[in-house]
Amino acid sequence: MINVTKTYLPNKKNYQKYVDEIYANGWITNNGPLVQKLENRLAKYLGVKNIILVSNGTTALEIAYRTLDLKGYAITTPFSFVATTSSLVTNGLHPIFADIDLDTLNIDPNKIENLITSNTSAIVPVHVFGNACNVEAIDKIAKKNNLKVIYDAAHAFDVKYKGKSILNYGDISTLSFHATKLFHTIEGGALIINDDSLVQKARYLINFGIKNTESIPDLGTNAKMNEFEAAMGLCMLDEIENIEKQREILYFTYKKELDEVVKFQQQNENSTLNYSYFPIILDSQEQTLKIQKALNSKNIFPRRYFYPSLDTLDYIEPKQFMPNSRDISERILCLPLYPELTKAEQMEIINIIISTIGITNEK
Ligand SMILES: *Cc1c(COP(=O)(O)O)cnc(C)c1O
Repeated sequence: MINVTKTYLPNKKNYQKYVDEIYANGWITNNGPLVQKLENRLAKYLGVKNIILVSNGTTALEIAYRTLDLKGYAITTPFSFVATTSSLVTNGLHPIFADIDLDTLNIDPNKIENLITSNTSAIVPVHVFGNACNVEAIDKIAKKNNLKVIYDAAHAFDVKYKGKSILNYGDISTLSFHATKLFHTIEGGALIINDDSLVQKARYLINFGIKNTESIPDLGTNAKMNEFEAAMGLCMLDEIENIEKQREILYFTYKKELDEVVKFQQQNENSTLNYSYFPIILDSQEQTLKIQKALNSKNIFPRRYFYPSLDTLDYIEPKQFMPNSRDISERILCLPLYPELTKAEQMEIINIIISTIGITNEK
């Protein structure tokens, strides 16, 4: 079976070495030495100032909203993984959607400003599939209207914008280190905080709001990463360059073979790629489902990322209708992309897509 992704398991001996360390010192969670080591290494590797590791990417978003004291409405994209929106709702915030650009698949900055009211406290864009948002336009709107910006950068590990980490934009960026992501810690995530004065508060918030044995200044939660997860991250980091290289080859093979057959996401010219996803945009939902069915019959499972569009969620108030996001969500597929995918498997996927589209077009 070929899935859209396959969890990368780094060198076992390397992992065992860390497990031996954990057993020797008996420290398995609560900001242990491996969590600290991974924070230091990631800050250097990614080129960011302040990074805080947490238990997953969803909590990272939640801690970001709480660190910034957000209230009321947050303008966000309807085309993302559900956690971008559900994390707002579970924290008492109302998602107000700005529709996406049909080419970049990111929030359209031109659609943001009209939605701002006195109740708006933030913008929560997503670098969809690692494609950098128009960060300059978004940050300008935010400054002008005194809004906070939290980038859900779950897909944007290691993406550079104009030569620097994309994570340095906005007030806070969040990462997900879930097993299915490019870089993972089994479960995990991180906050990248650009304002030094907010770092301490975020650190209290991930540990029940506790400052020290006598003082609990904030309403916190438990969002700590443990040592076994940090060990996985350290092992992944040892191999990440190689992982990205293998993905790059597969990425460009898809791109070359499917060029002029399907539409691709338009990439931000100022930013690098991390080859984390390979989305293809088809002509119609009918064609999309045909391709999905043809691939499924050969035990190949692309994913309809992202489907459904988040403006269709029942629990969203107020109700909204986002035509571009709904349109794209109905005719997009993410193709299998992971280091172990063989050239032969990839060519089979490509051939099935090309022949299925050929049949559809002849009718
Ligand atoms: C994966 C993902 C999340 C959630 O991260 P978890 O670590 O799974 O909680 C949030 N936003 C986006 C865009 C994601 O892809």
